[in-house]
Amino acid sequence: QRSEKVVVVGGGSAGIGVAAMLQNEGVKNVTIVEPNQTHYYQPLWTLVGGGLASAKNSQKDMKDVIPKGANWIPKRVESFEPDSNKVTLDDGSTVEYDYLVVAVGMQTDWDAIPGLEEGLEKEDSGVVSVYHPKYCSKTWQTFQSIKNNRSFNAANPATFLFTFPPTLLKCAGAPQKIMWVLEDTLRGEGKRDHANLTFCTPGASMFGVKHYSEKLEKMRVERGVHAAFENKLVSIDVSNKIATFLDIKNNSNVKKHYDMLHVGPHMSAPTFLRKSPLSDSSGWVDVDKHTMQSTKYSNVFALGDCTNTPNSKTAAAVTSQAPVVVHNIERSIDKLPLDGFYTGYASCPLVITRNQVLLAEFGYGGQLAETFDRKNGKFPWKFIGTEGYLQQRFFFFLKETLFPYVYWNLWTKGYWYGTNGPLKPNVVRAMEEAASVSA
Ligand code: FAD
Repeated sequence: QRSEKVVVVGGGSAGIGVAAMLQNEGVKNVTIVEPNQTHYYQPLWTLVGGGLASAKNSQKDMKDVIPKGANWIPKRVESFEPDSNKVTLDDGSTVEYDYLVVAVGMQTDWDAIPGLEEGLEKEDSGVVSVYHPKYCSKTWQTFQSIKNNRSFNAANPATFLFTFPPTLLKCAGAPQKIMWVLEDTLRGEGKRDHANLTFCTPGASMFGVKHYSEKLEKMRVERGVHAAFENKLVSIDVSNKIATFLDIKNNSNVKKHYDMLHVGPHMSAPTFLRKSPLSDSSGWVDVDKHTMQSTKYSNVFALGDCTNTPNSKTAAAVTSQAPVVVHNIERSIDKLPLDGFYTGYASCPLVITRNQVLLAEFGYGGQLAETFDRKNGKFPWKFIGTEGYLQQRFFFFLKETLFPYVYWNLWTKGYWYGTNGPLKPNVVRAMEEAASVSA
């Protein structure tokens, strides 16, 4: 048992997981600073938007997920003073620590697109987003009312636009997952020709990792989904249902009518982090991409969406980072060199129909890290393989049923150590060398 005081800022997926693991491992003096009374399992929101899950199953009262024995301060951190080992809260009080873990997530900039907040709030506007606990339910309601509206038919199809932002965002697959689920719903009801669907993105492809992007592009063409590549949403005229895009290649504005507009919102590092001594020039907490230790303060660690590690921002990444953070804090307390390494692992279960998932798993640099791959997968699961209808049904079962179960019953209690646990530096370096040779 260790008596050092660890303060965890943020009681989201990362903060709760780390706090619970620390408790289980005998680091008992843990305080969580988190202002919200509700804790969310955000990965469920895409399924809520597709009518495949209920919003109430994505949330629990914060008091019920705070690990037993941990102290909870229901306040917001205003600033960090790492030179004096303390944080200042929104009521002006301070909390001191021996070790600090920053896990404050990322900020959704709903106000970055003029008209977006108005559209989301207005009931029949057609403007929706799965990136919010309230608007993910609106997504399914709006879709249903358009689908069941008889004035839309093959001669007069409804227009659905799905946008991707020009910023980093958590779960970069979600803006198209919701599109595939809704497309499949229309197909299943014999109404596919009652709608035109377009994926609008400032990028030049469907996804950031080439291996998956090629599969998604092929599927896009086969399923008759239009693409507006290099198109960035700039504003929404809510009353006339017109979205304005910047066509990046031609540097000109294009106006598009929509019946339903699903927005992948702008995101950024939380504002209060931007002026913090812990952050880099873009506001993300500056940490070593392997050890998750602050590059500036040896008793500060960070994980989750708020760091500047170049992984895909997902809960899956958090489950790989948390065991590393816990292990390295223990090493640091014991005055030993940090030997827990994070590989950049992230996973994006790309929901492609109402019962199939294309499971994307990759590390730093987009290096594939597929658990179920027949050749390189992890024993004993590799016999399953990653390709095929049954595999994709199985991955859907993981996404819809097993992952939420593991999250609420194991992760928040500190018993799930991700797919790797904290790997040793030599293992990670060997993996990275192998990747750079094959690249
Ligand atoms: P969060 O879980 O967002 O928690 C941050 C916490 O910090 C919050 O509770 C917040 O209140 C608190 N906080 C903020 N500021 C302060 C402050 N000043 N003081 C104290 N506390 C503060 N991931 C996957 O792996 N697979 C998926 O399929 C997937 N799908 C997703 C779909 C959607 C629609 C969304 C929105 C996300 C999805 N994700 C998915 C991403 C995943 O939910 C996040 O990556 C994960 O929640 C990150 O955890 P975090 O703890 O860093 O941030």
